[in-house]
Amino acid sequence: MLQIGADTTDITPPVGIWQAGFSSREEPSQGIHIPLYSRAFVFTDGKRCTALSTNDLVGLSRPEILKIRKAAAAQCEGLDESDIMIACTHTHGGPAVSTYLRGQAKDFHYIQRLCGMIADTISEAHKSVQPASPYCAATEVEGFNHNRRNDKQYCDKRLAWLEAKNEAGDLIAGIVNFTAHPTMLTGENYLISGDYAGVLAQELERQLSAPVGMINGCHGNINACPRAHTDYALVEDHGRRLAAETLKLRDALQAVDADRVEVRSRIVELTFGPPRPKALYEQLAADEDQPDFVRDWARDVMEKYPGDPVDGTEQGEVMVISMGPVAIVGIPGHVFAEIGRDIIAALPEKCVFIANHANDYLGYFGTRQGHEEGGYEVEFAYRFNSSFRWALDADTTYRIQDAAIALSE
Ligand SMILES: [Zn+2]
Repeated sequence: MLQIGADTTDITPPVGIWQAGFSSREEPSQGIHIPLYSRAFVFTDGKRCTALSTNDLVGLSRPEILKIRKAAAAQCEGLDESDIMIACTHTHGGPAVSTYLRGQAKDFHYIQRLCGMIADTISEAHKSVQPASPYCAATEVEGFNHNRRNDKQYCDKRLAWLEAKNEAGDLIAGIVNFTAHPTMLTGENYLISGDYAGVLAQELERQLSAPVGMINGCHGNINACPRAHTDYALVEDHGRRLAAETLKLRDALQAVDADRVEVRSRIVELTFGPPRPKALYEQLAADEDQPDFVRDWARDVMEKYPGDPVDGTEQGEVMVISMGPVAIVGIPGHVFAEIGRDIIAALPEKCVFIANHANDYLGYFGTRQGHEEGGYEVEFAYRFNSSFRWALDADTTYRIQDAAIALSE
């Protein structure tokens, strides 16, 4: 029988910290809409032990991930650093914590404290393991998200749920998986918030009296809808309605036949498209209407032109936690929804959960079609949310997809 443990910690930053997700913000945070949480789930079969950490944050960069893993593993006997998956919901209402973000004021004192809190949450979950049985279910729900690039293109409507009950039959942990940018609250919002994803997890925790983590699927081109701007009641309603759909799913739970825990990872090489003509960077660097971080980025590219797309070798880690038919896939950025659809379709025997922004914060992984069409995700976002000089190519995306499928089989 598996042993499972879970824990929740409040990681709400101090008011006055800068929020991340919208470069248009001109002031630091002014208050709190809802608290932010880190949750941890530990699964062990007595031999192999693994942890999944879910966080109400925009995304954590690799150096912080490695620190957290190291600190957590040091506190947890039998848990290897490399068997810890750390994922973020990608809320755009939380603090600036990715150290890759250009032009963004960061509170390094908070980031350091945060790493400790996330590691401690994993440790608490590890201490709480008890014999438990997992159950899962999945459905599709309408009216919660849309394809933000083109409403006629694919949108992932899947809502999936994984829970664990102890031998007394009490629920001890839940993981909800839905696909949509937590960007109902926009750049005009100056209150710390987990957006709809935060409300969803908190509402489920309130109703089920157990830690519940939210993992966000392949949401590179998917937004929650409608936009709420600063209508907090609308965000709360959205999260609660999605929680109600999740609770309905519990009528269709299937027992997960699993007595072993497996963890597999693959380091995927990131490759880049060609640099753009030098004149473009010169023009951007000189354009006073561009934000400072774009001009700095353009200057950096120009100075080294054509040079390399990034300093050092750039890699991404794809990780899969498997328990019988359940596969929890971690991807180090956000991927277009079509890729998530194809991963799930390639694994018909599995109940698949996908966590984007897991173990790194590498930006967007677009489909081939998305790269051909261009747009914000594939042409612009990396200029401020990564250390890349050029944009990633589409081949990288399919390397990630192949890894996710191969590691889940
Ligand atoms: Zn995003």
